[in-house]
Amino acid sequence: MLDFSTLQVASISSRLAFIVVFLVTLSRHPSEFYFGIWASALGCSLIASFMMLGDPSTVPLQPFKGAVVYALYGASLSASWIGLRLFYERPVSVPPAIVLAVGPGVLYGLMLQVGIAIPWGLSTVFVLIAVSTGLCILEILRTPAQSRLWTQYIVLLGFLGYFSAFVLSVVIIHFASEHFASPDSGVYSLLFDQWCGVFIQIGYLAMVSERAHLRLSHLADTDPLTGLANRRGLRAAMSRRAAGDRGTAGCAVLLADIDRFKSINDTHGHEGGDAVLVGVAERLRSVMRKDDLIARWGGEEFLVVVDRTDDAQAVLVAERLRAAVAGQPILLGGTSIAVTASVGVSVGTMGEVQIDAAVARADAALYAAKNGGRNQVRLELPTVPQPAAAGATWIPAPPVGPSQPIATAIAIREA
Ligand code: GH3
Ligand code: MG
Ligand code: MG
Repeated sequence: MLDFSTLQVASISSRLAFIVVFLVTLSRHPSEFYFGIWASALGCSLIASFMMLGDPSTVPLQPFKGAVVYALYGASLSASWIGLRLFYERPVSVPPAIVLAVGPGVLYGLMLQVGIAIPWGLSTVFVLIAVSTGLCILEILRTPAQSRLWTQYIVLLGFLGYFSAFVLSVVIIHFASEHFASPDSGVYSLLFDQWCGVFIQIGYLAMVSERAHLRLSHLADTDPLTGLANRRGLRAAMSRRAAGDRGTAGCAVLLADIDRFKSINDTHGHEGGDAVLVGVAERLRSVMRKDDLIARWGGEEFLVVVDRTDDAQAVLVAERLRAAVAGQPILLGGTSIAVTASVGVSVGTMGEVQIDAAVARADAALYAAKNGGRNQVRLELPTVPQPAAAGATWIPAPPVGPSQPIATAIAIREA
């Protein structure tokens, strides 16, 4: 049979180990202040556990000792709540945290001092610490979908366990105390406390690590100047789509390159050039649909992948992009900078190999657009016939240079 004192020592040891892990992590990453708060939460419950060492689990605590022990448990859960708020970058409100921290202990001590029966003192303690636990649960549940972490549900499980245990304790105190007040009840509640605690502490570590991974891969996939995906990010997004049900769906690749960007840099300086890149990125983004992928492909080159489209639609989208860039000059301080872009278009499928070929064709089309006088759209057809819509066949247009003008490019006819 499990021994109550051995479990108490095991529980103290595991909390001590987590405190060390949290404090060492905090010392390496001082900006992750929540580790300090979580360590102090564990510290409070650790001191309370020390104070209870050797006490029989079924005898209620005396007013003074109870006040201190329950204030420590209250502080522990209230600090867990504050730590979660800091982790999720939400503002921290100190007064309610203080009330929840000291409330259980102060009320327990006072209620027993003025002669209120112990069951009422104890249930007040459990209700207050259940409130702190409920707040931790709410903090996790109200995370918006885009920043939701899988590992936060490990922490949630731990707090749900605590919450139900506290609520159950209130019920037991008032309705079933004699039946449950066996020597084993203390052992089982301590065991349950350990499980919940380990879920929460391991969950914290997993949650921090999951978020760090997500942030790092977002940084690695994003162009810092425009905030668009970079080449790596676009490839990753395309691979995800190629693996999904859109893998074989047709898509168009649009390669847009700012015209005579070198002279913009020469006239307005590198900072002016950067502002133009940001402005063009915004315009491209504003005309794209939610599902389209857009990236800064190179210096002043942008790549757009339009999902589920054919060449006729792709050319229309490309024309919209071109017009959005050329429509109005970009304002930089008091200066307005006229900007145009040339766009090369090709169609393919989302699969990796085909997309590489599609980008190469879009590049050839872009080259033709530059040669044709810039500020225009060109489409490059695949050289190998591709399956088209049912009942239609690709007829490659006659080779008239590296790409065909739009008017002659769309060469699908009924079979
Ligand atoms: P074209 O019409 O043929 O495309 O001519 P272009 O001048 O736009 O093309 P070119 O390839 O000759 O010049 C591109 C320039 O873009 C050269 C490079 O210094 C500049 N560039 C590349 N990356 C950046 C950047 O991040 N910021 C700024 N300001 N300039 C950049
Ligand atoms: Mg250019
Ligand atoms: Mg270029």
